Parts: sequence; C-alpha cells; structure tokens
Amino acid sequence: MSDKAPTSWTIRWKLWFSKTLNAGAVNDSFSNTSRRAFIINLFCLVGVLFTGPLGVISLLKGNLLIGLGLLSIASIYSLNHLYLRKTKNYLFSANVILYPLYALMLYLIYSGGVNGTGHVWIYCIPPVSLFLRGLKRGLLEVFLFILALVFILFFIPSPFDRYGYHPDLKSRIVYSFILISFLSTIYEYISSRFNQSLEALSSKLELAATTDPLTGLLNRRGLEQQMAAKEWLAPTVMVLDIDHFKSINDHFGHEYGDEYLKLVSKSMAGFLIGQKCLLSRWGGEEFLLLIEHQGDNKRFADALRNVVSNVSLNTQGSEEICTTVSIGVSELKLTETLLTAVGRADKALYEAKNHGRNCVVLASKAT
Ligand code: GH3
Ligand code: MG
Ligand code: MG
Repeated sequence: MSDKAPTSWTIRWKLWFSKTLNAGAVNDSFSNTSRRAFIINLFCLVGVLFTGPLGVISLLKGNLLIGLGLLSIASIYSLNHLYLRKTKNYLFSANVILYPLYALMLYLIYSGGVNGTGHVWIYCIPPVSLFLRGLKRGLLEVFLFILALVFILFFIPSPFDRYGYHPDLKSRIVYSFILISFLSTIYEYISSRFNQSLEALSSKLELAATTDPLTGLLNRRGLEQQMAAKEWLAPTVMVLDIDHFKSINDHFGHEYGDEYLKLVSKSMAGFLIGQKCLLSRWGGEEFLLLIEHQGDNKRFADALRNVVSNVSLNTQGSEEICTTVSIGVSELKLTETLLTAVGRADKALYEAKNHGRNCVVLASKAT
C-alpha cells in the first residue's frame, strides 16, 4: 500500500476545482443558493469541457458552422460562470443554463436527433429544472415542457414519425417523462425540507453561540463577531461592573441575583436604543459596551451609571434590590485590538472600585 502525500499539483487542482465550482456561492454551505451556484458552475464546466474541444475538432475538420456554434456555446458557458462569480446572481445564470437546454431538448424531440435517438436525452430536464428553480417554479416549467412535448409529439407532423417507431412510443415517452418528473419532485421536496431544517438548526446554533442565555445580550463571541461586521468611527469601550453584587446573591439568593442581572441588562439596552453600539455580557456581573464616540464619554457613562442605579427589583419581602455600577472607559484606537482597549478600561474600572465605586474613570490615552 502506498500512502503518498498529496503533491502540490493535486492540492492546486483540488483548490481550483473547489473555487470554480463554488464561485458565486454565498458562504453558507447549507443554503439552497449555494447548492444551486454549485450546479450551475458544474454545468458550465462540463459544458465548456465538452463543447470547447468538440468545437476545435469540428473547425479542424472544416465544419465551420458547427465548430463556431460549439465554440460560441463554450464561450457563453464561460461568461455565465464569470458572471455568477462576480455577481452571485444565480437566478440569471440559471436562465442561461435552462432556457437553451429546454430549447435543445424540444428541438431533439422535433427533429428526432441522431437516427431518432433524440428523445433519450430529455429526462435530464426534471431534475435540473427542479433543482435550479426550486419546487414551485421548477414544477411550472416542467409542466410547460410537458405541454410543449405533447404538442410536438402529437399535433405537428415531425420528422420523428419517419423512423418507423411503434405508435405507442410517443405516449410512453410522455408517461415516462411524467414519472421522472414525479420522482424528481419528491426528491427535491425531501432535500429542500432537509435543507430548511439544517438552516434553521444552524441559525439556532449560531444564536446560541453568540448570545448570553440569561440576559439575551451578546456574549463575548457575539460582540467580537458583530464588531468585525461593522465599520466603527473612533469607538469607545466601557467596562461596567455591578457593585457589591456578591452580597445581593448572599442576601437574597442566586435567583434574585439572576433577575436583577436581567433587569439591569434590559434597562441599559433600553437606554442605548438608537445608539450605534454593541452591549454584551462580558462575564458574571460585568458588561462591555462598545459605542461610537459620544463627544463627552464621561457624561454618557455617568448617564448609564444613573440608569443602573435607578433599577430596583422587588423581592417577596418588603425589601428592594438596588445597587450601583462602576465604569472604566477607554478609547479604541484603529491600530489596536479590542482586548488591548478592554485592558485599559479594566484598569480604569479597578481605579473606580478603589475610589469607592459608583463612579466613572477614564483610562489614560493609548500611547
Ligand atoms: P465589586 O463591587 O468589587 O465588584 O464586588 P462584587 O461583589 O460585585 O464582585 P465579586 O467579584 O466579589 O462578586 C461577583 C459575584 O457575581 C460572584 C458571583 O457569584 C456572582 N455571579 C457571577 N455570575 C452570576 C450569575 O450569572 N448569576 C448570579 N446570580 N450571580 C453571578
Ligand atoms: Mg466583577
Ligand atoms: Mg462587581
């Protein structure tokens, strides 16, 4: 047995194939769009590989018309691939594949193809059409194709009759085409249902991985992900830590502690509506706010501190849970990572705690 390591050529070929076949696909590998882009690219690739060389051979043999025709098809498929790669508009690219395919198949039926064998190719229509169009539109197009098929077979005198087939063949072609359409519909239905449930599961998992289950705020991962997805103009980082939270747990119990955290999160999120910002639960009773520069960061952080100190949670007894928050603030420079700015905000927060809590400290500027 030879366990050869893949050569750089094999890797390059694999990469090239994967890049070519997935060109124009959105990143989500489960989505119908990506699967359709894959099939369109596959069609284009196979189309070019078949028609290109055949076109050249035809030209070399002196068949100018056929040669040029085949090379035109190869060019159209190449352009279609490039168009999909650039625009990700798979709907248009699907038209470029499907309409000529319908026309070619109907022509093969009408003309009989090579020695009357043209009809054997038409069974590729239902799976390709349903796959590229989806159930509704695919079924409609297959139905229209069947009407055209019946019309050509039974209502116009076509050269098909020349070949002396048994008269039953025409109806059997239609029946078997309907059967394949039916089977393709079932397959497409099952696979799109499966795909939908995978997509739903994947977005549930994505949400669970980026959200804090207790407060519904973003977690660290969610914040980092959403931060990377937006452009930020001189953002400010605020690290907020609830004061004496442990004593709330100790005095009222962990469940009340949880309720308080939920209430504080809701109040802060309400206060921040309309701001370009991301609020996350950074850990335990600590929150991280990333917000576009406010002009006066100290004033804004003080307003947020007031929001928290106004939160009160009624307990079963007559007591209310009410506490304050300390805030460390730093400015995030374009050249540094979030964690560096958080480090400075953390130091400022530490100072705020040392100054007696319930206050805001601005970190010294990054050097
Ligand atoms: P300080 O003012 O110095 O911040 O004091 P503190 O008591 O808030 O800080 P400390 O770090 O001593 O305690 C934080 C507490 O937060 C300890 C931990 O049990 C509690 N905690 C962390 N996560 C949760 C949670 O999800 N729910 C509840 N109820 N408590 C939590
Ligand atoms: Mg803490
Ligand atoms: Mg605390």
